[in-house]
Amino acid sequence: MATGEIILKLRKQQGISQEELAEMMYVTRQTISLWETNQTSPTIENLLRLKNIFGVSLDKIVCGDAEKESKFNSNSVDTICSTLAYAMGIEAPKCAAEKNVELANYIDKVFDGEKADRIVMYNPDAIAQWIYQKYPEYLDSAKKSTDKEIYLSTVMPSVTPVCFATMYTGAQPSVHGIQKYEKPIITIDTIFDALVRAGKKVAVITYGKCSIGRIFLERDIDYYHFEEGGIEAVNAKAMEVILRDEHDFIVIYNGNYDSVMHKKGPESARALAELRLNDHIFGVISNLIKMHWRHHNTLVGFAMDHGCHEIDGGCGSHGLDMPEDINIVHLYKGYAKVKS
Ligand SMILES: [Zn+2]
Repeated sequence: MATGEIILKLRKQQGISQEELAEMMYVTRQTISLWETNQTSPTIENLLRLKNIFGVSLDKIVCGDAEKESKFNSNSVDTICSTLAYAMGIEAPKCAAEKNVELANYIDKVFDGEKADRIVMYNPDAIAQWIYQKYPEYLDSAKKSTDKEIYLSTVMPSVTPVCFATMYTGAQPSVHGIQKYEKPIITIDTIFDALVRAGKKVAVITYGKCSIGRIFLERDIDYYHFEEGGIEAVNAKAMEVILRDEHDFIVIYNGNYDSVMHKKGPESARALAELRLNDHIFGVISNLIKMHWRHHNTLVGFAMDHGCHEIDGGCGSHGLDMPEDINIVHLYKGYAKVKS
């Protein structure tokens, strides 16, 4: 495939019009058309810009076929942070990668060009893309209460603190500083800092010894951390916070699938039961938002950190550079304000 066809294909895949791409590239629509029909070629500067817009490697734009066999999703989880900032109309954190064009387009459509004034991120741990695809019946509520799938590659090593640090800073591990399974407090700019600067109120609801409860500490946000009571305590607090309707951005963490998956294997009955529990909680939260937040534009995400794979002895693991661990799917739903 020549570069022109590759640009055309990537543009169509991401649902961008020639006009929209022209605007993002600061060129005319005619220029895009000339590129796509191989009548002219983009300069190297333009190729680099296209690479960022499409969230793919330079190789993929220049010789798409060579990378066609890649088993990894082309968009990185580092694009989510800027997209959440974009959804709320606030400035992205300082080191964040460019936004995810597909999700940004969805947000523009669903809110009719307006911004979201509420975001709720439900973060399950370790639900791989392959699990999502193999067991759709266990994620039925999550599928039914969302209408946008975003396929992503997470970062390496594919372990929880590293991946959530990238999700909420938009930065690669070498930049945010967490490069192994450790939980120091992040010192670079995060979505939470960007939200606080914009005058937004944030709630982070977590339990146990989880990463999200630690690496984002020391910000002027509300932390609801439960040493005891597990996911039930988190769930109850999440519902209370939604009903109180005082926070603009809410993060809810559930690590049950991850902990059972490690001990019993990703496809064990016990692990699949935790999958269903995630699905159920997300469904309840989605319903609550739908019923009680009619006066808000709310973006809700079902957003995992990394995947997992089975290892010998009926156990599960993750952390490797393999599709099972790296490929994830985020599910999103925008609830537009009910106009009276
Ligand atoms: Zn784990």
